[in-house]
Amino acid sequence: MNAPNLETSYQSNDIIPRLHKVKRLSEGRYIAICPCHEDTRPSLAITIKPDGVVLMKCFACGADGLQVCESLGINPASLFPHSDNPKYEKQPRLGFSSWQLLHSLEKDMLVVLISAKMLVRGEALPESDINYLSEVVMRINEALQYLEGAR
Ligand SMILES: [Zn+2]
Repeated sequence: MNAPNLETSYQSNDIIPRLHKVKRLSEGRYIAICPCHEDTRPSLAITIKPDGVVLMKCFACGADGLQVCESLGINPASLFPHSDNPKYEKQPRLGFSSWQLLHSLEKDMLVVLISAKMLVRGEALPESDINYLSEVVMRINEALQYLEGAR
C-alpha cells in the first residue's frame, strides 16, 4: 500500500487556505483561527485524513466542519476529497480525535501555567486571561461530553 500523499490532500481541499493563522502540528493536523466566533488564539482543530476528508472542530465555540464552511461561505463538499465517489458527498463524518482534544488541553494548560507564574510573582491576572481560563473549563467540559457521547 502506498503512503498517502498528504501534500496532495492538503492542496485538494479549499478550506486550509481560507483560514487564518494556520499552524501545522503534524502530518495532516492543523490548528487555526475559528471563523465562527471572535477567535484570537487558534482554537479550531483541523485534521486532514489520508483519504483527504477534512475534520474540523472548534474547542471554543463547538463549531464543526459544516459551520466553518458556512462561515467561510464555501461549499461543505470542500470537506471531502475531490472525487467522483458519491459516498463522500452523502455522509459527512464530522468529529475530532482524542489526539486533538489532548493537544487543545496541552495549550490550555500552558495558559494555566503562565497564569500561575504571574500570580506567584504577585502580578494581577488580566481580565482577558480570566475569561480565557473560564472558556478552558467550559471547553474541557465540552470535550468530556463529546468523548462520552463518542464511546
Ligand atoms: Zn469557534
